[in-house]
Amino acid sequence: MNSQDLENRLKAQVDFPSPSKVATDIIALARDPEIEMAKVAQAVGRDPAMTAKILRIANSAFYAQRRPSQNLRQALVIIGLNAALTLALSFSLVNSMRVLRAAGIDYPRFWRRCLLAATAARAFSESAKVGQAEDIFLAGLLQDMGVLALDRACRDFYSKLPQPATHADWITYEVQQLGKDHAGYTAMLLKSWNLPERIWQAVEHSHTPQVLSASTEEGKYARCLALGSDLAEAVLRADRTSAVGTLAQRAHSLLGMSHELFNEVVTRILKLIPETEELYETSIMQAEDAENLLAEARELLAVRNLHALQEVSALQATTSVLLTRTEEAEDSGRRDAMTGALNRAWLDRMLDREFTQAVVFGRDLSVAHVDIDRFRQINDKFGTQIGDLVLKNCAQVLQACVRGSDLVARFSGEEFMIVLPGADREIAKQVAQRMLGALANCDHGETANGAKITASIGVATYTPKQRFPSTLALLEAADHALYAAKLCGRNRYECYEDLTSTGRNSATAR
Ligand code: GH3
Ligand code: MG
Ligand code: MG
Repeated sequence: MNSQDLENRLKAQVDFPSPSKVATDIIALARDPEIEMAKVAQAVGRDPAMTAKILRIANSAFYAQRRPSQNLRQALVIIGLNAALTLALSFSLVNSMRVLRAAGIDYPRFWRRCLLAATAARAFSESAKVGQAEDIFLAGLLQDMGVLALDRACRDFYSKLPQPATHADWITYEVQQLGKDHAGYTAMLLKSWNLPERIWQAVEHSHTPQVLSASTEEGKYARCLALGSDLAEAVLRADRTSAVGTLAQRAHSLLGMSHELFNEVVTRILKLIPETEELYETSIMQAEDAENLLAEARELLAVRNLHALQEVSALQATTSVLLTRTEEAEDSGRRDAMTGALNRAWLDRMLDREFTQAVVFGRDLSVAHVDIDRFRQINDKFGTQIGDLVLKNCAQVLQACVRGSDLVARFSGEEFMIVLPGADREIAKQVAQRMLGALANCDHGETANGAKITASIGVATYTPKQRFPSTLALLEAADHALYAAKLCGRNRYECYEDLTSTGRNSATAR
């Protein structure tokens, strides 16, 4: 069969399944610029398996959400209509292709490659902030359909290649035999299925992304596809180390990606693989392969860093001095001059960051509001200068009670806020108790005439089960508990959640 015959057969789609009715409906909807939620929900809802998958993906690591979506409409809102259509399409296309049996290619390896390439292309696009993730996923998934089509159209075409043949082997062979590779055939096929232009165009150039300008959308799409495809090959081939190294360089030249970012993307891809496997009911990768890949990416990064360090060794001394100075300058901007604790502005910033992380990753976050008891009397008795000294001591004592990753900030006057990321209620209570003990035992020196300082503490904890809508709400809860501690006689802590569960809350509310 010559290449013209082959092309004619492909155009006629002899022996190649076209998309299902649900898929063609979805394609038609996706081409409509004015798509409506109701229509999408109707089209997707006709296929219960697809609905279940859309729900699952809305609640998966792909779309980290605080609240799980209960129904298709909520899921569609979270994923977005266009992205949901693209996903639905990928499920339905994969399903119809899965029934095929290949003649000259290793079929399971082919599917693993498709899913891996798609997952990787998606992650590259997200890191490089290119286009819509689901578009790129679909393009990645379908980018080698031409191989399948060629295999169907001409049964012994690929069987002349020794197995397992790599992607590069296919290309060399196709160009040799047909004068062009499968990218063009794939694009032709996807175009005939009425898929959006941006998808088949990206596929058409996925083997030679450099011919498109990096500043155009097609250029960026094609670059992500190329990297996704390379990463899939790197995972599937035996001598992986050199492949990972080449890939990191390619990611740098195609998307300007640093090695650190590359490393992050690989980590992310590995995290997403189990979800993809579940959604497409395929096993993409052995756990061991995943670990090896990550280890190689890390090793590569370490070698690069070492190399970079050697190259700049002459500048190193100056750099480190400058760095220390910058750090010192930055640090002093973050601290309260009198007590040395973090200042209020920095507390607000860090608390926002920790709060977001707690929400996104479903982690616990505790805060303890510490207020020195009857501090006015200390000032009255010893004068404000001694008062200042005592406050400074208190800050140091509090700092000594927590871990390096916790924050001790001066909230106002004689009040401190302690932020304990990852600490649950019990740990927060232990820390509060430790702080009370340490403050009570602190010797403030002769000038303070053995003054004994106590404090009252209000503790509140954000957990995935007990959420607060904002940092402000969390701080208010801690303040509430602090007030209860004062009312209950001072020199003690109270925990907001205990107050609410024992009904003491209303009695002590300000
Ligand atoms: P309570 O147990 O109810 O907290 O009593 P308190 O006296 O600690 O509370 P109040 O809020 O009435 O007074 C706080 C005092 O702390 C008054 C203020 O002058 C003093 N203060 C606030 N900031 C500083 C500071 O920077 N240095 C000194 N020396 N005193 C301060
Ligand atoms: Mg006070
Ligand atoms: Mg006080």
